[in-house]
Amino acid sequence: MRVSSLKSVADLQADGLVAPDAALDKVAEKYVIGITPAVLELIDRGDPDDPIARQFVPTADELNTTPDERADPIGDLAHSPVDGIVHRYPDRVLLKAVHVCPVYCRFCFRREMVGPQGLGTLSAPALDAAIDYIDNHREIWEVILTGGDPLVLSPRRLRDLMERLAGIEHVKVVRFHTRVPVVEPERINEAMVAALTASGKTTYLAVHANHPRELTDAAKAGFDLMLAGGIALISQSVLLKGVNDDVETLAALMRGFVENRIRPYYLHHPDLAPGTGHFRVGIEEGQRLVQALRGRISGLCQPVYVLDIPGGYGKADIGAASITGADGCFTVRDWQGGEHKYPPT
Ligand SMILES: *Cc1c(COP(=O)(O)O)cnc(C)c1O
Ligand code: SF4
Repeated sequence: MRVSSLKSVADLQADGLVAPDAALDKVAEKYVIGITPAVLELIDRGDPDDPIARQFVPTADELNTTPDERADPIGDLAHSPVDGIVHRYPDRVLLKAVHVCPVYCRFCFRREMVGPQGLGTLSAPALDAAIDYIDNHREIWEVILTGGDPLVLSPRRLRDLMERLAGIEHVKVVRFHTRVPVVEPERINEAMVAALTASGKTTYLAVHANHPRELTDAAKAGFDLMLAGGIALISQSVLLKGVNDDVETLAALMRGFVENRIRPYYLHHPDLAPGTGHFRVGIEEGQRLVQALRGRISGLCQPVYVLDIPGGYGKADIGAASITGADGCFTVRDWQGGEHKYPPT
C-alpha cells in the first residue's frame, strides 16, 4: 500500500486518477485535495462512476456555483461566541480545534473553512478561551468535537484536551465527529482510544461513512478497539447523488453500521456548499428513499434524515412527514405509501 496521501492535481495525474485538465488546476486553487492510502486502495479504477472516487477525486463540476449556495451553508459563524466554539443549542457546543482533515471530501459543507487556506488550528490561547467558555456556561451538557477532523490531532494532544474537559463538572458527554476510522484506520490504536476516553465522561463517536464499501476490515478493527474501550458508536452519512442515492446502497450502508455495532444516527441532506450541485439530491427524492428504508430494513438501521437550515437555524428532521391533518382527522402514511385514518386520542 502507498504510504503517503495524494495532495495535488500532479499527484492525481501521476497516479492515473485524472487526465491533464486546466479546469482541475482552477478547482485546486479554490478547494484543497487530499486522498489517503486507505481510500486509494478502495477506489475501483475500472469503474468510471466509482462511488468512492466520486467523493474524493476533484472534477470540473466544482467550478459551477449557483445563487443559492453559500460559503457558510449552515450558519456556523452566526453562533460563534469565541473562536473554535459554535453554540447554537443551549445544552451543547461544537468545539472545532482543527480545520485540517485526512481527506478532503468534494461535497464538504465546510469546504471554505477547512484545509491549509482555511481557519487553521486554534492557537493555545484561543483553545484556552474556548475551554473557559465551556467552563463558564453551566448549561453545556455535551461537547462535540468536530472540525475539520479532531482525530488528526495526536493522541498526546487529544489526551491533553480531554483532561481539561475532565475538570468541568457540568459536561457529562463528549462526542467526536470523524472520518478517520474509515479513511485512515491505522490511527485508531490503543493510545488513540485511551486519549479519546481520557475525560472520564461518557464518550460517543460518530463515524462518517457514505458507502458500504467504506466499512473495510481495517475500519472494523478500529471500531472493535473503540467499542472495547467503552466508546459508543453512532453513524453520520451524507445523501449524495451518484454515491448512495438508491435504496439498495443506503440499506447496505445502514445494515453495515448495525452489524458493526454502530447505531445509525443522521443521514444529512446535502448542504448548499459552493460547487457541490452535482452531489445534491432533491428533498422529495430523499424523502422517498428514507420512507422506502422503513419497510425494507430493521428499525435498528433507520437513520434520521436531517437538513441543516441555512442561516444557522439548526437541524430539522425532514424524513417523510408521515402524519398529516389535525382536529380529529389524521392521516398516517405507511412505508408502501398507503394512507390510513387515525383518531386524535
Ligand atoms: C449539528 C450541530 C450540533 C449537534 O446536533 P445534534 O442534533 O445534537 O446531533 C450541535 N451544534 C451545532 C452548531 C450543530 O451544527
Ligand atoms: S472529513 Fe468532514 S470536514 Fe473534512 S472534508 Fe470531509 S466532510 Fe469536510
